[in-house]
Amino acid sequence: MTKWAFPAFAAVMMLLPALPVPDFWITQSIYIGLYAIVALGLVLLTGVSGLTSFGQAAFVGVGAYTAAFLAVKLGISPWLTLLVGVALAVAAALVLGAITLRMSGHYLPLATIAWGLALNYTMANMEWLGKYDGILGIPPLSLFGWSLGTGRGLHPLVWGVALLAALGAVHLLDSRPGRAIRALKGGSTMAEAMGISTFRYKLTVFVIAAFLAAVSGWLFAHFQRSVSPSPFGINRGIEYLFMAVLGGVGQVWGAFLGSAAVRLVEDQLQVLLPKLIGTSGNFETIVFGIVLVVVLKYAPDGLWSFVARRLPTPRRTRDWEGAEPLPARAKPARGEPLLEVKEVRKEFGGLVAVNDVSFDIRGGDIVGLIGPNGAGKSTTFNLITGVLPLTRGEVRFRGEAIGGLPSREIARRGVSRTFQHVKMIPEMTVLENVALGGYLRSSAGELQAMLRLDRAEERRLFAEAERQLQRIGMAEQMHELAGNLALGPQRLMEIARALATDPALLLLDEPAAGLRHKEKQALGAVLKQLRAEGMSLLLVEHDMDFVMGLTDRIVVMEFGTRLLEGTPEEVQASPVVRAAYLGTEH
Ligand code: ADP
Ligand code: MG
Repeated sequence: MTKWAFPAFAAVMMLLPALPVPDFWITQSIYIGLYAIVALGLVLLTGVSGLTSFGQAAFVGVGAYTAAFLAVKLGISPWLTLLVGVALAVAAALVLGAITLRMSGHYLPLATIAWGLALNYTMANMEWLGKYDGILGIPPLSLFGWSLGTGRGLHPLVWGVALLAALGAVHLLDSRPGRAIRALKGGSTMAEAMGISTFRYKLTVFVIAAFLAAVSGWLFAHFQRSVSPSPFGINRGIEYLFMAVLGGVGQVWGAFLGSAAVRLVEDQLQVLLPKLIGTSGNFETIVFGIVLVVVLKYAPDGLWSFVARRLPTPRRTRDWEGAEPLPARAKPARGEPLLEVKEVRKEFGGLVAVNDVSFDIRGGDIVGLIGPNGAGKSTTFNLITGVLPLTRGEVRFRGEAIGGLPSREIARRGVSRTFQHVKMIPEMTVLENVALGGYLRSSAGELQAMLRLDRAEERRLFAEAERQLQRIGMAEQMHELAGNLALGPQRLMEIARALATDPALLLLDEPAAGLRHKEKQALGAVLKQLRAEGMSLLLVEHDMDFVMGLTDRIVVMEFGTRLLEGTPEEVQASPVVRAAYLGTEH
C-alpha cells in the first residue's frame, strides 16, 4: 500500500485543477503547497538537525520581493528572477550560517530573528520596495505558451515543486549525507569521530531550507501577483515553525500535514473567533499557541506520528549481496610504532585531569588503560582523538603529529573509537548506524543522493555494515531501531560502527560498563577475535578482571597520573595498584 501512496497522492494533487472542485479549494490547496515547501525546509533544519530558525518567512520574502522588483521595475523574465531570488537567499543563508553555525547554543535562532526583523523592516520602509503597499502588478507566469496566471494554472507547478522537494528530502535522508545530517541532532562529538564535518552539514541544511523558502516565495509572488511586507514578518516565521512542529518534527510528510492543518483551521478560526468573541482581531494566533503546547505535551512527535504508526515500518530490502567492498587502508605491520602519547596534559581550570601521561601502542598491541573513576582515562581518550585540545604534550600516530587536529581529521588517519556513554542515532536502524562508520570510505554528496545516483555506493556501505555486524555477532538485529536495543547490544553496535571506519587503531572506552555477565562474555569473545585478527586496541576499563585476560600491557592511571605500566600479571601483583583501587594505603 505504501508503495502506491506517493504516486497516488501526487496524481491527485497534480490533477486536482482538472477536477470539478470549487476555486476556493484550489486556492487553499495552493497555499498548503506553498507553506509545505517552507515547512519542509524546517523539518530538515529543526526536526532532523535540531537547529531552529525563526527567519524562514524572511527567506520567503527574499524570493517574493526579488520576483516582484525585478519583474515590475526592471521587466526581467520571471524564470530569471527565480534564479536571482534563490541566489540571494542562499547567499544570505551562507553568511548567517557561517557566522552562527560554528557556535553552539542559541546563536542561530537569535540571528534568524534579527534577520527576519531587519528584512521586514527594510521591506516596510524602503521607497523602492513600495513600503507598506508593496509592489503590485506582477505579470503572470507562463510556460511553453501555457498561462499559469490563474489558480488552476499555477496549482500543478506549486504542487510539482512541493512533491519534488518532498521526494528529494526523502531520498536525501536515506543516504550517506542524510545520515550525516541525522547525526547532527545528537551533538557533534560522535559525528566528528566518524569523520563528518558537522559545520558543513549544518550549513548545508540551513541553505537547503533557505532555498526552499525562496522558491516558495517566488511562487507566492506569482500567485498573488503582488507582494507586501506582512506575509514575511516574524509572526509568519513562527507560524512556519508551528506547521513543522505540529505536523511532525523530523517527518517529511508531517510538513504537508502541518501546513494543511494550519491553513484550513486558520481560515475557519479567522471567521469563527471574531464572531464568538464579538470583536475583530487575530485570535487564531492565541489558539495556535495553545494547540502547540497541547501537541508538544501529548504528541511530541506531531500529527504525522499518528499516521506513521499505522504504516508498516519501512525495512530496507537486502539488495547489497555481492556489492564491491569499500576501499580499505594499508594496515600497520605487527610491532610497527602506531600511537605515541608523550607527556600529554589536560587541565580543566585548576584541575589537572591528565598529568603528563606517556605510553606507546605498536601494531597488534592490545593495551589496557585502567584506573579508578575520575582517574582521567576518558580525558586521555579525548586528547588522543581530538575531542579535547591538549594543554601540553604530543600525540603522534603512525609517525605524524596529530595533537591539535580536529577529531574528524584524526578519524581520517585511522583512529576510531567508541564512547563511554553510547552515542548513536536512536531512530535509525542498527544497520544505518553502523553504515555511518563508512562515511569516510564513501563520497556521495547531497545532489547525488536526492537524485538517487548514490545507490551503488549505498549497497557497498550496507554490505560493509552487515559484514561488521556479523563480525560481532549482531547480524540478526540489523533491522531493529538502535534506540530499542539494550545497552549491551548498543555497545557492540558502537564497536561495529567503529570497525566500519576501517581503523588502524581502535579505542574502546569502557565497553563492558553496565553489561550483564552474559553480555560481558560475548564482548570478551569479540575482543579476543579482534585481537586474533591483528587489530590494535586501546581499551579503557574500570573492571580489572575483564582486561586481565585480554591485554598485552596495562597502563594504570590514578588522579590523572600514570601510576604504573606493565603486563597484566605485574599490574595484578602490584600493591600500589591494589591500593589505588581499594583506596587504602598498602
Ligand atoms: P575517568 O574516565 O578515568 O573516569 P575522566 O577522564 O572522565 O575520568 O575525568 C577525569 C577528571 O577530569 C575528573 O575529575 C572529571 O571530573 C574531570 N573532567 C572530565 N571532563 C571534564 C570537563 N569537560 N570539564 C571539567 N572537568 C572534567
Ligand atoms: Mg571515563
